[in-house]
Parts: sequence; structure tokens; C-alpha cells
Amino acid sequence: MPKVVLATRNTHKVPEISRILASAGVPVSLVAVSEFPGVDDVEETGLTFAENALLKAHAVAGATGLPALADDSGLSVVALGGMPGVFSARWAGVHGDDGANLRLVLAQLSTVPDSHRHAAFICVAALALPDGSAWTSEGRVDGVVVREPRGSNGFGYDPIFVADGSTRTTAELEPAEKDAISHRGKAFRGIATRLATL
Ligand code: IMP
Repeated sequence: MPKVVLATRNTHKVPEISRILASAGVPVSLVAVSEFPGVDDVEETGLTFAENALLKAHAVAGATGLPALADDSGLSVVALGGMPGVFSARWAGVHGDDGANLRLVLAQLSTVPDSHRHAAFICVAALALPDGSAWTSEGRVDGVVVREPRGSNGFGYDPIFVADGSTRTTAELEPAEKDAISHRGKAFRGIATRLATL
């Protein structure tokens, strides 16, 4: 099976992406970027999910000489003009402080009525090859931001997001239930056919 480097150091995303690709039956062997000690972190300087996903995938494919998969994702809240968006991981100022990020979004929406709390999780998956060619696939799940965190599965904003058609937050879903509807599930299943041709 061809080796593909998973270009993320997010410890929550690695199991999600591995699970999604395994259940899609993609015939590749995923290797974590952490297994390549010489490969530096890539700064997410883009203003779109696609730009950042491609930045990460190209950098890791170039540095390892192997096909690389990356994603960039976030929560886009209508009442906040689409933010936190690409700034989701660092919305409260410290990269990866999920609790502070979630509390800030709740505070910013405290006076927004239930009828105006629409949001979407968006994910762009990118596959880059060492020759510089690349593909992207976008997935999204629409829903609302609730007022109180609920549930302990998932990560990030999962405890405050309820997908359309559900009554549970994505932190109250079992992993396979989240994968079936999630932005990341859709984005990576979308790129699976390209991965299968490697
Ligand atoms: P990235 O690592 O730059 O893609 O940042 C993703 C950030 O968006 C995470 O740190 C979370 O704050 C948020 N996010 C992305 N996907 C999810 C998800 O599936 N559930 C909850 N939060 C997510």
C-alpha cells in the first residue's frame, strides 16, 4: 500500500481522519508527520481553509518526498460574519485553548436570539504530491450554536454545536455518528477516490 503522510499535529484530528479513511476503505498506509523529526511546523498564514490546507500538504510533501494529506477547518458563525473561521483554533488568543475559544464564542453570542444562531463546521482536505500537484475537497455541516456546552466526545466547539436534524451536540454523538455527518467526514470521503489511485 502506498504511504501517505498525515500532515497534522492535532491529536484530536489524527484519530478522526484515520477512522474516516479506514471506514471508506482507502488502500493507503497513513504515517504521522511526527514520525519525521526534521519536518518543521507550517505557519497557517492563509485567509481561507483551502489556502491553509494546501500550505500544510505542500510543505510536508516537499519535506518528506511522500504524498501528504492535510486539512484546515473551523466553525463559521453567521452572526459573527463567518468568524471564527480560519481563526477557530486561536479565537481567544492562545492556539488550541478549546475551552477559552468556546467561552468567547458563547459570550459573543449571548444576546443573539435562538432564531439567529446558525453556524457551520467547514473543512477542506488537501492532498499534495512531491511533484507539486494537489487536490482539495470541501465538506460542511450546518447547524446552530447552543447556549450551554453539552457532551464530552470530540473536541473544540463540539460541545456547543448541534447539527441540523439533530438534538444532540456533536460532543454527545458517538465517533461514528459524528463522522457520518461531519465536515471532516465529507471532506476526506471526497478525497478518498483520488487517494485510491495513488
Ligand atoms: P485547524 O487545526 O487549524 O484546522 O483548526 C481547527 C479548529 O477549528 C479546532 O481547533 C477547533 O477549534 C475547530 N474545529 C475544527 N473541526 C472541529 C470539529 O470537528 N469539532 C469542533 N471544533 C472543530
